[in-house]
Amino acid sequence: MKQWSRDRREEQKTIAFVPTMGFLHKGHLTLMETALKQADVVVASIFVNPTQFGPNEDLDTYPRALERDLQLCRDLGVAAVFTPGADDIYPEGFQTYITLERLPFHLCGLSRPSFFRGVCTVVTKLFNIVNPHMAVFGEKDFQQLTIIRRMVRDLCMDIEILGVPTVREPDGLAMSSRNKYLADKERPHALLLNRSLAAAQMMVNDGTTDSTILLARTREMLETGSDVHIDYINICDPDTLDDVERIDAPALMAMAVILGKTRLIDNRILTSPKA
Ligand code: AMP
Repeated sequence: MKQWSRDRREEQKTIAFVPTMGFLHKGHLTLMETALKQADVVVASIFVNPTQFGPNEDLDTYPRALERDLQLCRDLGVAAVFTPGADDIYPEGFQTYITLERLPFHLCGLSRPSFFRGVCTVVTKLFNIVNPHMAVFGEKDFQQLTIIRRMVRDLCMDIEILGVPTVREPDGLAMSSRNKYLADKERPHALLLNRSLAAAQMMVNDGTTDSTILLARTREMLETGSDVHIDYINICDPDTLDDVERIDAPALMAMAVILGKTRLIDNRILTSPKA
């Protein structure tokens, strides 16, 4: 992979990189399309990264469809797909990890304490191997995007980070490889995430800007679904992820909900018409 990138750079080609865990859907493909528009060649990676899964999470059952994924990448015009094995990325003796001091102690990081350590470590390794000019990430994983932007700045990595808005199913459900886990009877309840985010924006439009009220109403709406467990809902500053009390500037409303056995996340930037 390193040699491939070196050769492209020698040809003066710009490289855009899209890291994924595979089982590709339209969200991933939109990232790749964005990459294709921005650079001469696109590299995707498919790697189910063990270090970002907690002990009781779905590493072993995470959906995989490598041949299908490779065909999708080929059809789109992705020049190379990097598919390392876990032993390539974490050989025996591996012991160097990337951690951030504050951003992981919010939102998903609270219930998944080693998640961002795993993400930042693998993304750094992939950046070092692929050596791209730019890399594309989805806003669906908003905290991840914020953390990667911070890490790239903090560590002086020469890589431009591009964010892509969340791609949704026609009914509004944010696309995710984990949607495959949803049973038919759970699917309607999964729509509550996007609907409650839209309802929160409507409340803001109608003049409710107090986060406590917005969060309480959103929680009530989510709890109308059966077998819905709210991991978190929060309203925070999109850059620092610190809580905000009032929507007087664009604020991130983010949530994680466990529906049956499936953990779903979604988010939306709330904006006040007055701000
Ligand atoms: P994953 O394979 O879930 O690790 O995701 C790989 C990349 O695709 C990450 O940058 C995600 O944020 C992005 N992504 C996943 N789902 C979506 C979506 N529905 N819309 C936009 N980007 C997405």
